[in-house]
Amino acid sequence: MERTVKNIFKSKPTLEGAGVRLHRVFGYHQVPLFDPFLMLDHFGSRNPEDYIKGFPWHPHRGIETVTYMLTGQVEHGDSLGNTGVINSGDLQWMTAGSGIIHQEMPKCYDGLLEGLQLWVNLPAEKKMTQPRYRGIIGNQIPMVQHEDATLKVIAGKIADTQGPVTDLMVDIEYFDITLSKGKEFIRTTNKDSTAFLYIISGSGSIQETTIASHHGVLLSDGNSVTITADDMLRFLFITGQPLKEPVAWGGPIVMNTEAELQQAFKELDEGTFVKTSGSVPVSTSYYRP
Ligand code: MN
Repeated sequence: MERTVKNIFKSKPTLEGAGVRLHRVFGYHQVPLFDPFLMLDHFGSRNPEDYIKGFPWHPHRGIETVTYMLTGQVEHGDSLGNTGVINSGDLQWMTAGSGIIHQEMPKCYDGLLEGLQLWVNLPAEKKMTQPRYRGIIGNQIPMVQHEDATLKVIAGKIADTQGPVTDLMVDIEYFDITLSKGKEFIRTTNKDSTAFLYIISGSGSIQETTIASHHGVLLSDGNSVTITADDMLRFLFITGQPLKEPVAWGGPIVMNTEAELQQAFKELDEGTFVKTSGSVPVSTSYYRP
């Protein structure tokens, strides 16, 4: 059965972090529609005022955050002791697990700074797993060239090309696809996996439905999907198997029950939140839900 368009979400202006103007494609109010995915934010501006305040030290637990820089740079540091810069084309796959405290600070950029952050939920049995940080630099992401299509394989496999992000807590496919006008992307999918697109630029169609720039496109269940480019089309194609577990979401922490959320915030107050640390930042203030 061919997948069709189930819902389209236009990304909405949202203020996040210490005052970053970004666009939210989906989030808290869409649970559990995108299960196992929780949120997708698209940040991008030519004006540093819109992003320079960044996301200072804050905690996460129970999720993974996946940050993909299209252009520009984000400096990061975390309680595992990782520090570095995510550059244009690089990707950071961060598993918060039992708890991480990190910061993500965009650097002033001459031109359009643009990136995407996806939140992936962790299954109940993995919520308190060891935190893990993976930085993938752009040239480690294999690119499949197919006539007038460019397929960047970040997680999952296209033909014999395996993406660099493997050994995931939840099986996920994450592709960055560019098609020339008139070209098609045809993909076989698990029938009941959640599959969606985020249109970075251009326009296209799925069956009779038009898909346009800066929209999230959630697909119906089915074994395959065909995406046609109406002009030069760039989109993320993301799939994952739904967890079908209760979601208790408090700001940067997503657990299964309210009691687990309360426990997390109690540990933050008491300074016992981080279970595995390199260097824990001191005298910081964190976002609260
Ligand atoms: Mn964060």
